[in-house]
Amino acid sequence: MRTLFVDVILPLHLPGTYTYRVPQEYNDAVQPGCRVVVQFGSKKLYSALIRRVHEEVPQYKTKYILSLLDEQPVVDERHFRFWEWIADYYMCYVGDVMAVALPAAYRLASESTIAIHPDYNGELSDLSEQQLRVVMLLTEHHLMNLADLSKALGLQKVMPLVQGLIERGIIIMDEELRQRFVPKKCSWLRLADTYVDPDACRQLLDSMEQKKSTQKQVAVLLVFLQLSHFGSDAVSKRTLMEKIDHKSSSLSTLIRNGILVEEQALETLEDSGERSPDDLKLNEQQLSAYQILGNPEGPTVGLLHGVTSSGKTEVYIKLISNHVRQGHQVLFLLPEIALTAQLITRLQRYFGDKVGVYHSRFSPSQRAEVWYRTHCDDPSRRYQILLGARSAVFLPFIDLSLVVVDEEHDPSYKQYDPAPRYHGRDCAIYLAHLFGARTVLGSATPSLESYYNASQGKYALATITQRYGNIQLPDIECVDMKEAQRANEVSGHFSNHLLNRIDEALKNREQVILFQNRRGFSLRIECDDCHWTPQCQNCDVSLVYHKSINALRCHYCGYSIPVPTECPACHSTHLTMKGFGTERIEDDLGILFPEAQIARMDLDSTQQRNRYLEIINDFEERRTDILIGTQMVTKGLDFDNVSVVGILSADNLIYYPDFRSYERSFQQMTQVSGRAGRHGHQGRVVIQTYNPQHQVIQDVIATDYQAMYDLQIKERAFFRYPPFYKLVSILLRHPDATKLNDLAAGMAAELRKLFGTRVLGPEYPNVSRVRGLYLKKIMVRFERSEPLGDAKRLMLRVAEDMLHEKGNYALSIHFDADPQ
Ligand code: ADP
Ligand code: ZN
Ligand code: ZN
Repeated sequence: MRTLFVDVILPLHLPGTYTYRVPQEYNDAVQPGCRVVVQFGSKKLYSALIRRVHEEVPQYKTKYILSLLDEQPVVDERHFRFWEWIADYYMCYVGDVMAVALPAAYRLASESTIAIHPDYNGELSDLSEQQLRVVMLLTEHHLMNLADLSKALGLQKVMPLVQGLIERGIIIMDEELRQRFVPKKCSWLRLADTYVDPDACRQLLDSMEQKKSTQKQVAVLLVFLQLSHFGSDAVSKRTLMEKIDHKSSSLSTLIRNGILVEEQALETLEDSGERSPDDLKLNEQQLSAYQILGNPEGPTVGLLHGVTSSGKTEVYIKLISNHVRQGHQVLFLLPEIALTAQLITRLQRYFGDKVGVYHSRFSPSQRAEVWYRTHCDDPSRRYQILLGARSAVFLPFIDLSLVVVDEEHDPSYKQYDPAPRYHGRDCAIYLAHLFGARTVLGSATPSLESYYNASQGKYALATITQRYGNIQLPDIECVDMKEAQRANEVSGHFSNHLLNRIDEALKNREQVILFQNRRGFSLRIECDDCHWTPQCQNCDVSLVYHKSINALRCHYCGYSIPVPTECPACHSTHLTMKGFGTERIEDDLGILFPEAQIARMDLDSTQQRNRYLEIINDFEERRTDILIGTQMVTKGLDFDNVSVVGILSADNLIYYPDFRSYERSFQQMTQVSGRAGRHGHQGRVVIQTYNPQHQVIQDVIATDYQAMYDLQIKERAFFRYPPFYKLVSILLRHPDATKLNDLAAGMAAELRKLFGTRVLGPEYPNVSRVRGLYLKKIMVRFERSEPLGDAKRLMLRVAEDMLHEKGNYALSIHFDADPQ
């Protein structure tokens, strides 16, 4: 008998792989890509992934693997290579990548908590004896972690058991627990088929009215019948809840008794696959774009630069259908799945149940299901089009032939924290390369990097200059706030001009979007006499006033204090609010337009899981007239009744201290403008600024991407920034400011020995203390043409040496390649 060993990857922030011995009973079954349970550290158990099987006896004593979880690999060689590339490029460990790549349900560890699924119907047939014991134990204890479960069962290998129960929807784990009481996506109610017949329905009502216990339900049912035109339509659950004052228990009883049927919006698209991509007729510009991007002779990556509402999606759909027809798979990436429910619907209309959706707001078992259906053997169950935010690049494609990255310029493609700090677009391009697949990047405002690649001929370039159906681009006006103030034509933070535009729109029953990139009420409070401003005690920022909680709060760490009544420095009571955020806009507008329905969409108002969907839905269905928001309102939304868009303070965007601020402000202003007048008639955009002559504002008004690009690309070349140079940013954190200064200076000196003047800093970042830790930043820039693999390894070694030095335990260092 041979003695086998496996090198495994653990889902932890640790370098390299770890070697375990294989019990002989598994000799024939172990293969790379299968998960095994191993003990790591003194007690903890993890699911690890086999990277390599071999017979090389290690120098040290090895532990045995405890069990094998899979018969078939869940990750194949190509994806391992993808992970390894990400780890190298973004300067982290493969374990970090594994931790984001594998869905949680595949990463069971001994700390994982499990419980009975709230929707489990109690069906106990065909459970094994052991499964039955797990269910009984959980019924008794409610929550258990796997280590306790394994003790209670007297069983070492609980993971396969648990996995089986998760797959059958009987138990849930971790994250999902936290979300169990949050309502799912918007759901619809319809009358059960049996009662659609009016006579049957009347009989039902009669019999219910006679019983005292069901009279409350009758009241709810009557409201439902009225809203649904006597059962002929479905009614959204929310609408019904509002009408019945959220008395949900009678409603639940009606659903439980099978009188009303509840359906999730996503799963019940009756028009699934109703349209064929063949029926889609592209206009001339779309057709030419389609030909350029699909040309097999051209570069494998293409950029589609099409103005807002030019029908980029239609071009994607045509391209996708070619690949799908040949049985291949397609990855469709979006910057934020949250705002793109609309796109899901559009794709499903053409491709029906071939479309799978994957994102972090899904529960672990939903994600596990999508993962499984991306690589399952049965072609009728396999998804061909996978739609998702950046983490969808990790899905286990088996036959990827096209990648679409929509809104490719969007900074939220980059994962900021924790490692891997990867860019979804760039990883997608690499993934496509591994599969020999094509990539299409699309945007109305491409990133300078992508446009530069296109201008160099590295990417194919397709351009659409007109909106579909010859609808005009919005008319963009600029209000000089200095002038307006001088002429006494402002009320609070609004110019009279903008107010008139809003007023007109409301009179015509049209809708309005207002964009302000700061949340909260006022940005800070200041003492009129000594200029004191309340600061966060943990971070180097001013506290923001939030009226809803009547407190000052830190946007970095959440620290909050009551609003002071006097200045602690000089005891003056003259405290003034400075600057304004979305909350303030909402408040002021309520006074100016008391009749209007106003909604706000920002990080504060969308804390609840599906709140953003409700806000968008209400606006789509015109239950709200004015939508105020941060950059959340600039993306991917397609409304058909918005006639006015207001940008309240363009200067916040333009003067943000970053080399990308010009590009970013152009993108944000152009994108939010694009929400105006999409269907039917021309929309209007009002930009308020103190600097109407600023070049970026002029470029936005003229919708002149090329002008913005030409100027910016010169600056980037001159100041040695991307796309001409590649940046690696290094952030050091330490609780002691002096110690940090020394360490950062020491590190910069070490790096200078290796890379000379390419090293910049150390310097304090814009915010130099967060959560009680001081921050210092070092930047290294490399010529674009240099291969960086070795340089990156050297930098990591410098960092590791420092971290291992005695006394540096409180130091942390993180690397960010291509910081955004
Ligand atoms: P973009 O993604 O470029 O902003 P969209 O794809 O949302 O633009 O297109 C804008 C609108 O025009 C959508 O309502 C879309 O359905 C419609 N449209 C675009 N191209 C076509 C086409 N070839 N045939 C029919 N409708 C189209
Ligand atoms: Zn004071
Ligand atoms: Zn803070």
